[in-house]
Amino acid sequence: MSECIFCRIARGEIPAGIVYQDDDMLAFKDINPRARVHVLVIPRLHVASLEDIDESHDSLMARIMRRLPQIAREQGLETGFRTIINTGSGGGQEVFHLHVHLLGGGRLPGFG
Ligand code: AMP
Ligand code: ZN
Repeated sequence: MSECIFCRIARGEIPAGIVYQDDDMLAFKDINPRARVHVLVIPRLHVASLEDIDESHDSLMARIMRRLPQIAREQGLETGFRTIINTGSGGGQEVFHLHVHLLGGGRLPGFG
């Protein structure tokens, strides 16, 4: 069993504010929100980062991308949202289980 913190959240071993889940993925509230809405969307499958993506993840990644607008709308983000994926230490990644930051509402960190 993986000791990875996001794998443990996916298995229900660590509590999290889960806002969406299905067979492929999980979305839960970031513990240190940088916007009114800040959720992390992760595959249930442990993939450390975008550096580890290959062809076998194509449909999983597509399903995650296509689900993001629905999760955003369910969080009340009617006018749009920002997504960020940090990759590797040089990209500011701290948790090495691939995750999409989904942010919105009010002023947003980062670009523009
Ligand atoms: P990153 O820098 O892209 O790896 O982002 C990791 C994110 O995970 C940060 O925004 C943290 O606030 C968040 N985080 C870390 N541990 C937890 C946790 N147990 N539950 C929810 N969010 C977490
Ligand atoms: Zn993991």
